[in-house]
Amino acid sequence: MARFSICIAALIGAVAVSACSTMDNGGTRQPGALSASEAEAAVAPSVPLMKEVTKRLSADDFEGRAPSTAVEPKVTDYIIGEFRKAGLQPGNQGKWLQEVPTVEITGDDFTPLTVKGAGGTQSYAFGEQYVATSYRAVPKTQVKDSPLVFVGYGIVAPELGWNDYAGIDMHGKTAVILVNDPDYASETQDGLFKGRRMTYYGRWTYKFEEAARQGADAALIIHDTFPAAYGWNVVNSSWTGAQYYVQSPNDNTDATKANGWVQKPVAEAILKASGHDLASLTKAAQASGFKPVPLGMTASFGFRNAIRRSTSHNVVGILPGTARPYEYVLYSAHWDHLGHCTPDATGDDICNGAVDNATGVGAITALADANRRHGGAQRSQVFIALTLEESGLLGSEYYAQNPIYPLNATVGGVNIDALLPGGRVRDYSMTGGDKSDLNDLFRTALREQGLRDAPEDSPEKGHYYRSDHFSYAKLGVPMFDIGRGTDWVQGGTAAGEAAAKDYVENRYHAPSDEWSDDWNWAGLTQDLALYYRLGRMLADGDSWPNWRAGDEFRAIRDADCARPGAPCGE
Ligand SMILES: [Zn+2]
Repeated sequence: MARFSICIAALIGAVAVSACSTMDNGGTRQPGALSASEAEAAVAPSVPLMKEVTKRLSADDFEGRAPSTAVEPKVTDYIIGEFRKAGLQPGNQGKWLQEVPTVEITGDDFTPLTVKGAGGTQSYAFGEQYVATSYRAVPKTQVKDSPLVFVGYGIVAPELGWNDYAGIDMHGKTAVILVNDPDYASETQDGLFKGRRMTYYGRWTYKFEEAARQGADAALIIHDTFPAAYGWNVVNSSWTGAQYYVQSPNDNTDATKANGWVQKPVAEAILKASGHDLASLTKAAQASGFKPVPLGMTASFGFRNAIRRSTSHNVVGILPGTARPYEYVLYSAHWDHLGHCTPDATGDDICNGAVDNATGVGAITALADANRRHGGAQRSQVFIALTLEESGLLGSEYYAQNPIYPLNATVGGVNIDALLPGGRVRDYSMTGGDKSDLNDLFRTALREQGLRDAPEDSPEKGHYYRSDHFSYAKLGVPMFDIGRGTDWVQGGTAAGEAAAKDYVENRYHAPSDEWSDDWNWAGLTQDLALYYRLGRMLADGDSWPNWRAGDEFRAIRDADCARPGAPCGE
């Protein structure tokens, strides 16, 4: 602690303090503790930069930062300039930009879903009764006489001894899958699938990925409002119209031919015609040892696909490590937002995205600046302003699939998305539950700064699986996802909850998400201090945090770290 005070004194004088970081960490390689006031002193000189970047990115002439539009180069040039000012070096082999090629697929001319069996033929209308899209960039999708198999929740979790596809070859077949996971209805967060807390196995994205790994022709999820947490109208509106994907060299031909949803009554009718019933099959699927059930019926449907390819860019900068430069800590925040959107009552049609996510880009720029002022960390720190978050986490997905710095050399990191102006708080929470060793670092940092670890709001919604950090987590890299709590030092939870409600109801994804000179920066400064501390814990440490035993991402990290020469395995 005392040694840290010397660092802070040097830092306040804006001196480059490389000697200081050697002092902190020399010998033990353990990062020193940092009290709330020390952490805030460490970021204080960088707060004006965060303000400047946030304000500039949310100005009207950036038009709401829609990716792959005429305004993109202006936005990315601006971010490059600020990254440079913060002391970063180009992070992609001497370049600042990483190209993110995307494909937009719009289905059209859908046939009905036709199901045939001994009991006759059933036909279901597109839109009202079923929806489907192609992940493959192909002009035409045709699923023909594909045998239907009920596969329960569609989960293969070897670490939990669970396999809903046990003993079946899905090639040429169509999987019929329940939404969420077996213990979603539980009141507690205990159980194989963590009770009411959503696990990745409960997300629809997982179910389609697993069906593809099984070689299925197609996958259809049975919609049900309670476990899905949204109505059919949401499925219908988000699954019709253009869908966006990262372009892959094989045009995603390793995906199923088609992925879609059916209304619950449709599934009930299909199962009834096959001599089963949905309620009892659902019950069977909730018990371990469940076996997939071939339904003795086939499905046929098809549609055309309009394909449009485009390119956007991630901006990547690096602050090289002083002792272990080939080990990396990630900081990311998406720069894109919605561009021109539905006008509000005043006719304003620019969704400026000041909170979402000019604040995040401002924060990572300020964190780069604060780290540079402090003299750089032992490990390299990589700062990425991501594109295409609003289209489905595509910028981060592309980076994770095409990492500039190997994932098994990446210690962990943090993604920052939408920091709310507001007062100082007494509590923070980490989403996803107790998933990894990062939870221990988080608790240590909170303790040092006199903050409380608050439970996650709505764990059943699976927030951990719905933001950019998840793209790296899914491929094994442990990632923080942290939210400032609502217990304000001034005004308590009443004030904190009112501010959060105001944002969600009046600003989120609307033209009113705008910069104001009246923003209260107390909470934002507190955020920055916590992120700074957590980042330094990883970047000045020498440990490799891993997922908890039994976590859904543990096996993939262990496999990556077991490769010859993997830094995380040494
Ligand atoms: Zn966002």
